[in-house]
Amino acid sequence: MSTNNMYQQRIPREKSAAMFAEALEYFPGGVNSPVRAFRSVSGPPLFIEQAKGSRMQDVDGNVFLDFCCSWGPLIHGHANEYIEEKVMKTVVKGTSFGTPNEMGNRLGKLILDNHPYVERLRFVSSGTEAVMSAIRLARGVTGRNKILKFDGCYHGHVDSLLVKAGSGLATFGTSSSAGVPESVAADTLILPLNDRDLLEEILSKHAHEIACIIVEPIPANNGLLIQDPSWLKCLRIKAYKHNVLLIFDEVISGFRVGFAGAAGYYDVKPDIITFGKVIGGGFPVGAYAASKEIMDYIAPVGPVYQAGTLSANPVAMAAGLAALELCLTPGFYELQAEKTHAFATALEAYAREKGYPMHVPHIGSIFWLAFGTDRITRSDQIDPANMEYFKMIHHELLQTGVYLGPSGYEVGFISGAHSVGDLEEAVGKIKAAMDVAFA
Ligand SMILES: *Cc1c(COP(=O)(O)O)cnc(C)c1O
Repeated sequence: MSTNNMYQQRIPREKSAAMFAEALEYFPGGVNSPVRAFRSVSGPPLFIEQAKGSRMQDVDGNVFLDFCCSWGPLIHGHANEYIEEKVMKTVVKGTSFGTPNEMGNRLGKLILDNHPYVERLRFVSSGTEAVMSAIRLARGVTGRNKILKFDGCYHGHVDSLLVKAGSGLATFGTSSSAGVPESVAADTLILPLNDRDLLEEILSKHAHEIACIIVEPIPANNGLLIQDPSWLKCLRIKAYKHNVLLIFDEVISGFRVGFAGAAGYYDVKPDIITFGKVIGGGFPVGAYAASKEIMDYIAPVGPVYQAGTLSANPVAMAAGLAALELCLTPGFYELQAEKTHAFATALEAYAREKGYPMHVPHIGSIFWLAFGTDRITRSDQIDPANMEYFKMIHHELLQTGVYLGPSGYEVGFISGAHSVGDLEEAVGKIKAAMDVAFA
C-alpha cells in the first residue's frame, strides 16, 4: 500500500479544514495549545461542534467515540446532565464576584473531607498555575531555590520546569523552550525515573540547596510510564531523610485513579499535591494542597504571595463540585478500572495473537497504546520511530469513528459515559486499525 492510499480521507473533513485555514490567520499554528494542531498525525485538526456522553460530533457531521476526553478532565463524559444542571443553576446568579462564595466552600469541604492526605487547599485556574504556585510555596517554606524533577514527567508550562536534561546522566537542566532563561533552567535538576542510586547521590550532594522533589506519581504525559510503587515509597523516605519537600503533581491522576489520586492508590503521603483537569468538571480549575502548617505560608497568612482574579469562580466550582460528587458514588472508580482493564487486555490479546508489537499499559481509567512488547517505564525506552504506527492507527480510527488524542505520546481516558458496548465497538475498530498499521 502506498503512503498516499494509507492516509486517504474517507470521511468529509472540508469544514474542519476551512475553519483551520481561517484559524491560521488568528492563532500561531492555528491553535491555542500546540498538540491540538495535529502535527504528529495526518490532516487538519477536527473542529468539534458538540458532544454528549462518550461521543463528539465535528462540524462536518462525523461522530467519534472520544478517548481524549478533553485531555483528562471529563471523567463523566461530555455534557453530563448532573454537572450541566448545577452549572446552569449557578451561572444565572452571576459568573464572578471577586469575593468568597459558598460554592468554593462546598468544593473545598468535599475534597478535604474525602482526601486523607491534605488539610488545606487553594484554588487556582489551571494545572500550570497550581504547579507554579506549589513550587513557589516549596521555595518559600524551605528558603532554597533548586528543584528536582524527573525526565519523562510533564508539569505544565512553568518556566523552571520547561527544562530538559543536559548531557550526562544526572544534570542541571538546560532550557527546553526559547524564552526560558538558562539561569532559570540551571536551578532545576533532572534525574531519570526509578534510579535510586543516582537519587541518593544527588540528594547527598545537593539537598541543602533543594526545595523540593516534584514528580508525576503516575507519569501520563510522555506515554503512561507506570512506576514501581516501591520507588515512590523510596522517594518519600529519601525526601524525609534529606529534609526536602515532596510534591506529587496529580493534575492527571488526582480524582482519576481514585478520589485520593495516586497518593491514595500507592498510600504515599507527599508534602504538597497539585490538582487540575478532573477537579474542574470541564471548567478551568486547578488547586494545590498540603498540611495546614505548610499552607499557612501562603498569603494572606504567610509570606508566599499567590492570587487570582477568577480563582474559585462560582460556576467552575459548581461544575467541579458536581463532578467530584459523582466520583464519590460507591463503586465508581472500581467500575471505570474494570472497564478499562477489559478494554486494554482485549487489545493486548489481539496484538499477541497476531504478533503485533503493541501493548496497552493501563491504570484506573487511563490507558496508552504502547509500541514494542517490553514494559516501558522511562521515556528513553520509547522508540520515536514507532510513532509511525500511531499515526496510521490514529488516521484509520478517524475514518471509522474513534478519536484518540493526536499524538502517540498522549494517553487515553475512559469515562463513566463509556458503556461496555462503546468499548466493545472501540476494540473492534482499534483491532481493524492495528491490522492496517502492522500489515
Ligand atoms: C495537564 C498537566 C499540567 C498542566 O495543566 P494545565 O491545566 O494544562 O495548565 C501539569 N501537570 C500535569 C501532570 C498535567 O497532566
